Amino acid sequence: MEEKSKGTLLMEELAYKKKNAYEEASETLRKEIFDYSEGYKAFLDAAKTERESVKEAIRMAQAAGFTEYNFGDTLSVGDKKYYNVHGKSVALFTVGKEDLAKNGIRILASHIDSPRLDLKQVPLYEDNGMAFLKTHYYGGIKKYQWTAIPLALHGVVALKNGTTVEISVGEEETDPVFYINDLLPHLGRDQMSQTGAKIITGEDLNVVVGGLPYADEKVKEKIKLTVLAKLNELYGMTETDFLSAELSAVPAFKAKDVGFDRALIAAYGHDDRVCSYPALTAILESTGNRTSLVVLADKEEIGSEGNTGMQCQVYVDLMQKIAEAKGADFAAVRENSKCLSADVTACYDPNFASVYEKSNSAILSCGTTICKFTGSGGKGGSNDASAEFLGFVRNLFEENGIVYQTAELGKIDAGGGGTVAKYIAKLNIDTVDIGVPVISMHAPYEMVSKADVYATYQAFAAFIKD
Ligand code: MN
Ligand code: MN
Repeated sequence: MEEKSKGTLLMEELAYKKKNAYEEASETLRKEIFDYSEGYKAFLDAAKTERESVKEAIRMAQAAGFTEYNFGDTLSVGDKKYYNVHGKSVALFTVGKEDLAKNGIRILASHIDSPRLDLKQVPLYEDNGMAFLKTHYYGGIKKYQWTAIPLALHGVVALKNGTTVEISVGEEETDPVFYINDLLPHLGRDQMSQTGAKIITGEDLNVVVGGLPYADEKVKEKIKLTVLAKLNELYGMTETDFLSAELSAVPAFKAKDVGFDRALIAAYGHDDRVCSYPALTAILESTGNRTSLVVLADKEEIGSEGNTGMQCQVYVDLMQKIAEAKGADFAAVRENSKCLSADVTACYDPNFASVYEKSNSAILSCGTTICKFTGSGGKGGSNDASAEFLGFVRNLFEENGIVYQTAELGKIDAGGGGTVAKYIAKLNIDTVDIGVPVISMHAPYEMVSKADVYATYQAFAAFIKD
């Protein structure tokens, strides 16, 4: 082999180069990456909404020995607890052995809500051979992507009698699916001359739910009545019960491997279950010797509002209860706490290269991705983590052999976005965004690399390791 030149050696020593996690991985590690992704895909299929994610997370937590916490309960060292936030968010925590005022809490904050189509409160109508449900989209979507694909309905209905009934239709092989009409290209001349935002409008996103007329000459809206009769038979509900329902249409697709080599996964709702699942599994497998908190929050896609979003006081209350249990000053605990805001970022896409600045973009399979800041324009609305905290995180990852990269969300002024990071940083907690790069983010079927999912899991596990 030819001897490396002095310059080549110096370049290797001094210059930065991204690494592909698959290239770096041994056979054993590749197997670990692929095995881990099987659990992740099962989680994706079981948990398509925040409510289902909470249920699945609690089921897994209980199996790992975590028990429910309620405010007023006594906490002690060694506890492994979960707190259910109105069934739509869940916080899991361990009460460790350390000096908490000195070491603080290690926090992983992710979200379990994803863009989707919520039903309106008065959704059902009949029009020319079809019954429809009107929707109001949730989160940032390209509306035209939601037509002509199989949809499932998920959610709950609070009935007049005070009970709540759960609905999930469209996931089983034998289930029917639901559908949003699109225009045939033959008549699409005017539609196709519109901008992308207007090809399909919010009011066009009406979901087909029936087509069978009720057998009674006297009835005017026969198909609507067939649907109402079926809903009454299955769930005991009447049309008025839609007023107190939370039902969502989500893609009926299952999570699937992508590619001949199965290196990638396509699924609905990678954002942000692809960070929630690694955070969840990291704390469930942790010793609990360090005080850690994993938040799977709701409402991130609409600004982290409400009593299940990251801006809610409940997460601060939980931290305070943990501090009190340890007899530690809460301000000191927060000052010394550290948080990874676990959310996805845009993956560099060669098909849309013009919106990315390649050297500062996340490259697929190059590891978990640290975003020093998010926001838009001149870093507006961003947390912008400190050099010192990035130094801490970077050293932690290097010590633990974790493949990582750094990125911005596309080119300057190409757009922007935010995460929960700024709400946690406000508490005087060092926080930085980190997560899995996603192709086609917010589309009905998004894509990630298994290697990046696993690197993210390893990163989270290292962060909360004692
Ligand atoms: Mn997200
Ligand atoms: Mn998002």
